[in-house]
Amino acid sequence: MGRLSSRRDMLGWLGMLGAGTALGAWSGRAGARPEPGRPNIIFIMSDDHAAHAIGCYGSRINKTPNIDRIAREGLRLDNCLCTNAICGPSRACILTGKYSHLNGFKTNNDKFDGSQPTFPKMLQAAGYKTAMIGKWHLVSDPTGFDYWNVLPGQGAYIDPVMIELGRKEKRSGYVTDLITDSAIEFIQKRDKAAPFCLMCHHKAPHRNWIPDAKHGDMYEKEDIPEPDTFKDDYANRSRAAAEATMRVNRDLTPEDLKESPPDGLEGDALAHWKYERYIKDYLRVIASVDDNVGRLLDFLDKEGLADNTLVIYTSDQGFYLGDHGWFDKRFMYEESLRMPFLARFPGVIAPGTVNGDMVLNVDFAPTFLEVAGVKAPDDMQGRSFLSTLRGTTPKDWRTAMYYQYYEFPQPHHVYPHYGVCTEGYKLIHYYLPGKIDEWELIDRKKDPKELRSVYDDPAYADTVKQLKGQIAGFRKELRVPDETA
Ligand code: CA
Repeated sequence: MGRLSSRRDMLGWLGMLGAGTALGAWSGRAGARPEPGRPNIIFIMSDDHAAHAIGCYGSRINKTPNIDRIAREGLRLDNCLCTNAICGPSRACILTGKYSHLNGFKTNNDKFDGSQPTFPKMLQAAGYKTAMIGKWHLVSDPTGFDYWNVLPGQGAYIDPVMIELGRKEKRSGYVTDLITDSAIEFIQKRDKAAPFCLMCHHKAPHRNWIPDAKHGDMYEKEDIPEPDTFKDDYANRSRAAAEATMRVNRDLTPEDLKESPPDGLEGDALAHWKYERYIKDYLRVIASVDDNVGRLLDFLDKEGLADNTLVIYTSDQGFYLGDHGWFDKRFMYEESLRMPFLARFPGVIAPGTVNGDMVLNVDFAPTFLEVAGVKAPDDMQGRSFLSTLRGTTPKDWRTAMYYQYYEFPQPHHVYPHYGVCTEGYKLIHYYLPGKIDEWELIDRKKDPKELRSVYDDPAYADTVKQLKGQIAGFRKELRVPDETA
């Protein structure tokens, strides 16, 4: 994939600006922005929204015109990856700029230590007004926010309870609409003398995918195609994939499916029926997210805020949309490792930019801080990619990343694993004393669907050796404790 498909356009565009440092070039229109170089930040994040269910990422199963607008007017990252692909842990990595073993939130059974440094606290200390609205999912109360209004735990789709600054109240309506209402209200009531950072974090499209009434009949008369790897037999890899309990054809519950299969269906026909039930509700729930992203963007236009606001759309990690026969996430395979990441930042990001730099969720915090002109603390493990957003990839930018997943055995029996992902390979170690000690090597160029481990193939012996060295280097650099060896 091209690093910058629109590089020529961008160079011309930057030339028109007359300066390489677009942020510094801002002159500050009266009333439109609090002060030059201190843009607002709106960080929209959904839960479990895979990139391959977003139009601008080439989805073949749905359309997302409003989310796509962010990419059209800004940028799409094609290689944004999650360091621990599961809900709460990814959120903790994003807040702290640190891997799970250092921020302490390794699984969804942990409780976030809200006393540790986070980017919202640093923005707040620098004069930003900060807000956290929607899905929080870190057990402890949010810290570092002037305003917060969050769902308890996973939250409900219909008439959810929300906790506003510690006060619980049942709301009437659909969760994605209510979160957007609250986000818009925060912006309306904000202190206009200060820049703001608003985290608008949707529950959708998390399991169990309950659509609102207006999208309930979408796709009713269509047949959504199964992905190529829907009938993966899990042969030729570690037994970790085969032993995971997240199969569409076996592990979806009656609550997920919401109706009983027709009599007489079995085998592939039954699996396909379940897939249709699952994927259609997933996409219906996303349709509401897309509508509400549009509503927020329109509101920014109306308020005159679009020009001085960085708008991000991402998801806490990817998801299996029947890929490998699965729903859910967790594995280091592409569909859950990869996060969608779209950003619009007028005057900084050239419209229509597509970029393939390897960016991680731990990079978000230092990036937001640099956008606000705040120095990131040295112990943040991520690195700001503002330069990439501006159109220049630093020469020493990473070409490999370290991943580690911990949660076992509930709820989907995915063995803990760590590994390295490079442009050409993934080397993954499934580890758990007495349970599993297996390696997988994926040749990403020859096997982009990730169906065959070549770990035991002698032709790859040197590659394995080199990648194991890379893992050891990462573990030392990132200060990963030894007990996971
Ligand atoms: Ca999630």
